[in-house]
Amino acid sequence: MRKLSRRALFAALAAGAAATARAEDAAKIAQAEVQYQPMPKGMFSCAQCTLFVKPNACKVVAGSISPSGWCKLFDMAD
Ligand code: SF4
Repeated sequence: MRKLSRRALFAALAAGAAATARAEDAAKIAQAEVQYQPMPKGMFSCAQCTLFVKPNACKVVAGSISPSGWCKLFDMAD
């Protein structure tokens, strides 16, 4: 079996992680489709939404999501 150098191993792991992140984002809804905005809508923001993933992601909307943002899928936590 071929032995990988530490550098090659880390590069392969990093490439795999990036590909996984791209695949996850591809399965999510585009920000424009849900009228995402990087600022709150009135008193509502992503930080209060059940779909928000700390520190800057969303379970259903692609890309970087600000805790101060908002979109039309906003779901208030109980
Ligand atoms: S408001 Fe929209 S973008 Fe923000 S966390 Fe909820 S579903 Fe995701």
